[in-house]
Amino acid sequence: MQKRILVTGGAGFIGSHLCGRLLGEGHDVLCVDNFFTGSRRNVQPYMQSSPGFELLRHDITLPLHVEVDEIYNLACPASPIHYQHDPVQTIKTSVLGAIHMLGLAKRLRCRILQSSTSEVYGDPEIHPQTEDYRGRVSVFGPRACYDEGKRCAETLFFDYRRQHHLAVRVARIFNTYGPNMHPNDGRVVSNFIVQALRNEPITIYGEGEQTRSFCYVDDLVEGLMRLMNVPGDVPLPVNIGNPTEITIGELARLVIDLTGSRSQIVRRPLPEDDPTRRRPDIERARELLKWRPKVSLEDGLEHTIAYFDRLIAGQADPVLP
Ligand code: NAD
Ligand code: UDP
Repeated sequence: MQKRILVTGGAGFIGSHLCGRLLGEGHDVLCVDNFFTGSRRNVQPYMQSSPGFELLRHDITLPLHVEVDEIYNLACPASPIHYQHDPVQTIKTSVLGAIHMLGLAKRLRCRILQSSTSEVYGDPEIHPQTEDYRGRVSVFGPRACYDEGKRCAETLFFDYRRQHHLAVRVARIFNTYGPNMHPNDGRVVSNFIVQALRNEPITIYGEGEQTRSFCYVDDLVEGLMRLMNVPGDVPLPVNIGNPTEITIGELARLVIDLTGSRSQIVRRPLPEDDPTRRRPDIERARELLKWRPKVSLEDGLEHTIAYFDRLIAGQADPVLP
C-alpha cells in the first residue's frame, strides 16, 4: 500500500538513504530538516526526479502540523563534534522533538519509529550490549546532552505507547557509515578515509585499543524499515548494528591498506567519556525482524572510500539507493 511517510532529519546521512529506499518502494516522502548537519545536496536527486518527494525546512523543536501515514524520527545531530556544538539545542531536539513528533503521531494515530542509539548504554560494563542492559551514562559529561536526550526520548516513546496506545518502534542504532556522511563531522570512518585519501596523518585518539562495530548504511536502513513494518506491538527497543567488532587502531590500518595511502598514524588525546568497547547483541533483531547485516566492513569501506574520493575530486553525486 502506498503511504505518505514523514522522515525527520531526512537530509542527513542516514535519512537521505532512507528517503531513497522509501521512494523506491513507491511511497511519497515528506522530508523535514533544519539543515543543521544535513544538506539539500543529499536529497537533490529526489527533488529533481521524484514527484512524490517533498522537502520542508523546519526545526522539530517546534510543533509540526502535517498529514502523514507513518513517521521516522531521525532528526538529531549524531557526531560528537556536532551534538556538542550546541548541547542545549541537542537535548531540545531529542526531547521536544520527540514530544512534537509523538503528539503528531497521536493525532494521526500513525506508527512512529525513533532512531535511538547505542549511546544509551554509555561506557558499557557488559559486552556485547543486549537491550536489557541499562547502561552507564554520565548525567553531566560532554556526551550527556546526546545520551540523556536519547534516553529521555525512549522513555517518552514507551510512555506514549502505554498511555496513548500508540504503535511505537525504537531502534538502538550502533555506529553506521557509508556514502553521504559529512566529510568534516569528525566521526572516525569519515575522518580516517578523508585523511588517508589526502595522505594526511591519521588521527587515532588514545591508544586506539577502544572498539566499535560498524554497520553499512544499506543494512541499517533495511533494519529500520523491517522494524517499522513488523506486524503487532513492539514493546521493547531493538538493537540494529553489525556485531563485527574492530579496534580503532585496526580500522586505521585497514583504511590505509584499502586506500593505498602514504599517511602516517598520529596519536591525539582520548576525548572525555569515550566508550571503551561497543558491540551490539542483535538476537532480538534476528528473531523479530529476520534481519542481519550482510555487507562486510571491507566492502562497505570500499563503497565509502569511492564516495569520498569523488567528493574530494569535486564530483560526487549523493548516492541513490
Ligand atoms: P546526521 O547529522 O547526518 O543527520 C541528522 C539530520 O537531522 C540532519 O540532516 C540535521 O540537519 C537534522 N536535524 C538536526 N536537528 C534538527 C532539528 N532540530 N530539526 C530538524 N532537523 C534536525 O546524522 P545521522 O548519522 O544521519 O543520524 C540520524 C539519526 O540516527 C540521528 O537521530 C542519530 O542520533 C541516529 N544515530 C546515528 C548513528 C550513526 O552512527 N550515524 C548511530 C546511532 C544513532
Ligand atoms: N576516533 C579516533 N580518531 C578520529 C575520530 C574518532 O580515534 O579521528 C575515535 C573516537 O575517540 C572513538 C571512536 O573513534 O573512540 C569512534 O568515534 P566516533 O566519533 O566515530 O563515534 P562514537 O564515539 O560516537 O562511537
